[in-house]
Amino acid sequence: MFHKVAIIGGGAAAATLVSELLERRTPRPLHLNWYAGAVSAGRGVAYGTPSERHLLNVRAASMGMFVSKPGGFLEYAQALNPAVKGSDFLPRRLYGDFLQSRVEQAVKNAGSFGHDVNVIPFMAESLVPSSEGVTIGYGDEVAHAEAAVLAIGSLPPRPLPGVEDAAIASGRYVTDPWPYLVSAPVDERPLRVLVIGLGLTAVDVVLELSARWPNATFTALSRHGKLPEPHLASASAPGGDDADLVESMRDDPNVRVWMRALRDAASQAEDWRTLVDGLRPHTQSLWADLPVAERARFLRHARWAWERARHRMPPQVAASIAALERAGRLARGRGRMRGVSLSHEGALDVRRGLAGGGEAVESYDVVIQTVGLNTDTLRTEHRLVRQLVIDGLVKPDPLGLGFAALPDGHLLDGNGRARSNLFAIGSLLRGALWESTAIPEIRKQAQSVANMLMAESAERAHSR
Ligand SMILES: Cc1cc2nc3c(=O)[nH]c(=O)nc-3n(C[C@H](O)[C@H](O)[C@H](O)COP(=O)(O)OP(=O)(O)OC[C@H]3O[C@@H](n4cnc5c(N)ncnc54)[C@H](O)[C@@H]3O)c2cc1C
Repeated sequence: MFHKVAIIGGGAAAATLVSELLERRTPRPLHLNWYAGAVSAGRGVAYGTPSERHLLNVRAASMGMFVSKPGGFLEYAQALNPAVKGSDFLPRRLYGDFLQSRVEQAVKNAGSFGHDVNVIPFMAESLVPSSEGVTIGYGDEVAHAEAAVLAIGSLPPRPLPGVEDAAIASGRYVTDPWPYLVSAPVDERPLRVLVIGLGLTAVDVVLELSARWPNATFTALSRHGKLPEPHLASASAPGGDDADLVESMRDDPNVRVWMRALRDAASQAEDWRTLVDGLRPHTQSLWADLPVAERARFLRHARWAWERARHRMPPQVAASIAALERAGRLARGRGRMRGVSLSHEGALDVRRGLAGGGEAVESYDVVIQTVGLNTDTLRTEHRLVRQLVIDGLVKPDPLGLGFAALPDGHLLDGNGRARSNLFAIGSLLRGALWESTAIPEIRKQAQSVANMLMAESAERAHSR
């Protein structure tokens, strides 16, 4: 086993892995350096929101932190409020409380398992893996470990092409919505707001700002102008056996064929949601069967439809959004943003390509970009990832879906060989797994990486 391990990241994935490791009894003590990036770590981007309007999009019963205890979050929530049901969509703030309390407890109890853990409230800024181990730089310090795990979430969003520097410098064009939502003050003015993108983040942005800005009107723009689908009010019964469908997809790994098969199966299913949910245990292995050219085709043509169906809104969120549409405060547009510039009046002029052809220019007071996770490791300002890629120590995924990696999380070096002592979990494994972002996948990855780190064979493989 590796005895000296570095975990890098300050969100749910790192908190889960740290807890997994610290609660194991091992033949020899474990020395853990957790580079958490902040003093109070464990919530990350998704669960750092203080807003009660921001709900989990997964039911409480499925949000446990450990594979061995999938109902752990439900138990925690019911201890606070016995009326909570497993099918409820609870505030993400509460989930952040859960994560933080669990990981703090694990750190506190580490000594009773013989381990020691050092929570370092700094960002890891450089990392050099070698056959001797891993060297990590943070602040003015350098530390060594035998193995490291990157649990750094997705990468900071970058402005879309066509957005002028002056628009960004004005502060009216928002590239990263999450810090903006935390600090946006109440404003009574009749602001005109454009949200670029129509996924779950756009929905959260509109819900939050429409409450804080009671006279604002919102336009949400996407290629198809469609909202995410809603969850059913009650959990759907498990679907039938999808074995035939999965088998036929495996026989012909071709996106066009898959889309046709899915549409046919959905038209026969009692509710298409059960079909989509039934595929989830197979998604990673189906993705592994798909050649790179077919993956690229999926990203171009099918990704938006899959994400609408897969990442759904809680029913009460869907009702609030529908009410804003009825009240005339939210309009949905189809088309692509082509450019944003700062006007003489200080507003933002947005050039938008229209769905039927042609172009329109519209004026907004604020434009907020919500276009999904950034996983492009080749073009990023993230200091650590940039260093790893530029120095050729890791290999970017060819389609911009994070790092090139084995499905079990081993990162590949610049020549495509698996590194024995460098792993990742979470969104930057999308290239290897596609489905690699939500808690049910992350807790499995944390368990499996903890098993590999603790395996007797790990150190031997590493020292070869
Ligand atoms: C708005 C939103 C809502 C979501 N809702 C759900 C949900 O309801 N259910 C669900 O299952 N999933 C949900 N997800 C998916 C979510 O991504 C995962 O559940 C989980 O939060 C991912 O955690 P993470 O630790 O991988 O990433 P993050 O939350 O992004 O955390 C990574 C952390 O690492 C830090 N970091 C980065 N680089 C370094 C470095 N060099 N050194 C130290 N620290 C570093 C970052 O600052 C960040 O704090 C949601 C995601 C979002 C964005």
